[in-house]
Amino acid sequence: MPSYIAPLEDMMFLFNKLRNNEKYNEIEKYKEVNSELVKDILEEAAKITQNLILPLAKSGDDNPPILENGVVRTSPGFKEAYKKFIEDGWISLSCDPKYGGQGMPKTVSAFFDEMLSSTCLSFKLYSELTIGAYNCILKHGSDEIKNKYLPKMVEGKWSGTMCLTEPVCGTDLGLLKTKAEEQSDGTYKISGQKIFITSGDHDLTENIIHLVLARANGSPKGTKGISLFLVPKFIVKEDGSIGSRNGVSTGSIEDKMGIKASATCVLNFDGAVGYMIGPKNKGLNSMFTMMNLERIVVGIQGLGISEIAYQNSLSYAKERKQGKANITKSENGADNIIEHADIRRSLLNMKSIIEGERALCFWLSQQTEVSLNHNDEIAKQQASDFVSLMTPVVKSMFSDMGMEITSDAMQIHGGYGFTKDLGIEQLYRDNRITPIYEGTNSVQAADLVFRKLVNKDGDIIDKYINLIKEEIKTSEEKVQPFVKQLNYYLEILTKFTNWIKEKIKDSKDDASAACNDYLKVLGFVAMAHAWIKVLEASFRDYENNKNFYEDKIQTANFYFNRVLPRVESHFKTATTGSKYIMDYKFN
Ligand SMILES: Cc1cc2nc3c(=O)[nH]c(=O)nc-3n(C[C@H](O)[C@H](O)[C@H](O)COP(=O)(O)OP(=O)(O)OC[C@H]3O[C@@H](n4cnc5c(N)ncnc54)[C@H](O)[C@@H]3O)c2cc1C
Repeated sequence: MPSYIAPLEDMMFLFNKLRNNEKYNEIEKYKEVNSELVKDILEEAAKITQNLILPLAKSGDDNPPILENGVVRTSPGFKEAYKKFIEDGWISLSCDPKYGGQGMPKTVSAFFDEMLSSTCLSFKLYSELTIGAYNCILKHGSDEIKNKYLPKMVEGKWSGTMCLTEPVCGTDLGLLKTKAEEQSDGTYKISGQKIFITSGDHDLTENIIHLVLARANGSPKGTKGISLFLVPKFIVKEDGSIGSRNGVSTGSIEDKMGIKASATCVLNFDGAVGYMIGPKNKGLNSMFTMMNLERIVVGIQGLGISEIAYQNSLSYAKERKQGKANITKSENGADNIIEHADIRRSLLNMKSIIEGERALCFWLSQQTEVSLNHNDEIAKQQASDFVSLMTPVVKSMFSDMGMEITSDAMQIHGGYGFTKDLGIEQLYRDNRITPIYEGTNSVQAADLVFRKLVNKDGDIIDKYINLIKEEIKTSEEKVQPFVKQLNYYLEILTKFTNWIKEKIKDSKDDASAACNDYLKVLGFVAMAHAWIKVLEASFRDYENNKNFYEDKIQTANFYFNRVLPRVESHFKTATTGSKYIMDYKFN
């Protein structure tokens, strides 16, 4: 089983030194969320994830949930762990105190999301979708619905799901067939089949609240005719108690490559009672509240799995002796493999990407909070624009990097990485879903290019590039060599942005074929921007924690010289266009 120590020092460094978004600091309700409080929370979070959640990863992988007489039984140990998890209030960390939550900002809950993802993604998913459904109901539900469902969800006694996918539609939800028939009492009868539903059924909670996309009778075809419905597994009575079973049943549990302990279900809706959430035919818009926040969390999943993969690779490299790294230095036959330049390169590649991602994510968490909670509408809108621009980037970049990092972790472990002995191959398998669900990474890249770059006449990306330019202009002298490098790559990003904006107008295939590369370029530059912030704090505070800051500076050196230059190759290949792709005739 891989070992894990939560990276508390790095997390507290970000919270203490990079919480410099003026607008974020103006949010009244977070003014009391100070360093001591956050340290206490994260230390407790580290304990529960390291001690209680981590052991579930292997046992869940070996013993996936089963469907027995229509009941889904979760992996051994999950029920007990979940009970403790909710008793200690971990589900409610970021929820509104009005419904029983603890009201912590995303600058804190994102760290907890990372720890959970590192230790057992399957376990995390049982509560993650609840928070997703909670966010959606909070924003779009009526007061009656909110008061009836949210307190139990925040308590963790009821869980949530997101039911979009059907056998005929995954990416293209306009094709969905699930029907909703309006009844005389204003409720709907929902009929159809949903597949691949995470936590679709299980024995951890008393009730499951499904958020289901369906087409109401008389609604138009395509995405314009989709509405959102709340469909409980058990009908909830007027007084809030649980009543009879609703018409939802589990057809089967998917047999999967990874996250095996997460019950991914086929759900059959047979005239199930549903309540419309938000306006009719605007269901996709409402569901996007859940999906957008979820997408950032999927990025964090990739980051969390990368972190545990790195930690174990580092320990292994310090112990495994093979070959001589340096003829003159080695005395007794073989050196630890950490002495080999190529292994060191690989470890630094992981480390510099992980720490860059964590810093970028911290920036995005601040923006997200401003977009949701600031009093000033202009500040809110600007933050919301940046969040919408960067959501597909964080989702795709972090999950793709998770594949690179878990693959490299296996490589560092050699044959022991490929066999099941050390649990490293499980990290690769578990991460493999992250580039697929919540909208595949290709679809994220298309969303970035064809929606986000076009929004507001392309103004958002220009504002983002300008924001970086403004912020790095005033960097102190020691950071300047890094700023110079970033400016060079910002120029490439600007050229690439202009190129792709032109192509969107008159050559869709050129733009489509460049989407993935463009997303990577924006992602590497955004991480470099985050690294500049880290460097500024490191040089400023150097004398107070030399070892920590020296480590940051060295890691940044690697990022700027060995990772950031990948931008150039993405730009060069993508701007050759789509001719050699579209002209080719597949046999
Ligand atoms: C373990 C697991 C858990 C899941 N959990 C949930 C859940 O809780 N709720 C839920 O509703 N769904 C869930 N899903 C479904 C998941 O979101 C979909 O699998 C995903 O969105 C892709 O849809 P698809 O599988 O139908 O692939 P398709 O949409 O058929 O796509 C196939 C390929 O074509 C590409 N493609 C499709 N359209 C385009 C396009 N326009 N341009 C370029 N490329 C394109 C895709 O990128 C992909 O590579 C889950 C899936 C899995 C495996």
